[in-house]
Amino acid sequence: MRFVINTHWHFDHTGGNALFSDSAAILAHANVRKRLLSGAKILTFEIPPAAPAALPIVTFEEGLSLWWNGEEVRAIHLRPGHTDGDTAVWFTGSNVVHMGDDFITTGFPFVDLSSGGNVRGLLEALDSLLPQIPKDAKIIPGHGHVSTVDDLRKYRSSLEEMVAVVAKAQKAGRTVEQMKADKLLAPWAAEWGKGWVKEDGFIETIAQDLATKR
Ligand SMILES: [Zn+2]
Repeated sequence: MRFVINTHWHFDHTGGNALFSDSAAILAHANVRKRLLSGAKILTFEIPPAAPAALPIVTFEEGLSLWWNGEEVRAIHLRPGHTDGDTAVWFTGSNVVHMGDDFITTGFPFVDLSSGGNVRGLLEALDSLLPQIPKDAKIIPGHGHVSTVDDLRKYRSSLEEMVAVVAKAQKAGRTVEQMKADKLLAPWAAEWGKGWVKEDGFIETIAQDLATKR
């Protein structure tokens, strides 16, 4: 292997870095390196600072292209959504886009507010990426099954609807506890409730995000 591109800093997406670093150059958005260097607490997980061998040796801000295997592989930094170091990787010749954890099919989205993530930013990140990629691209989620651009659009719409539902309740003066009791996200829980982010947890995340000035 010659190149490894980290889509963000979470350990389930960077845990192999040190194993590949002998032969491969590790590339990532600058914030991935910064967060790997410092470590952090995410929910109940204590993430220690990464070993030097696990750190990206090439960092970028906006993105970069690898001209490799007869195609352009485009790393595109997306504005803070899942974290503040998210990158989508578009294999332009193969017509495949890896979304990192900006898109998952296994449950409610995880927006890591403690790593600079942002629910409204995630919507904007998807809105900025969708017009750039071909309509028939294969979409690889950070977790879950290979999907289509339509699946990605549907996920984006659901996310927008959930944010709107929580925003409306917040405007009406409902507390987070009341929103949970009202089962505000029940319409989406049938499809997404089996993941590790639960309905109540996602209500909390959206409410916390909306209460924060941007
Ligand atoms: Zn992640």
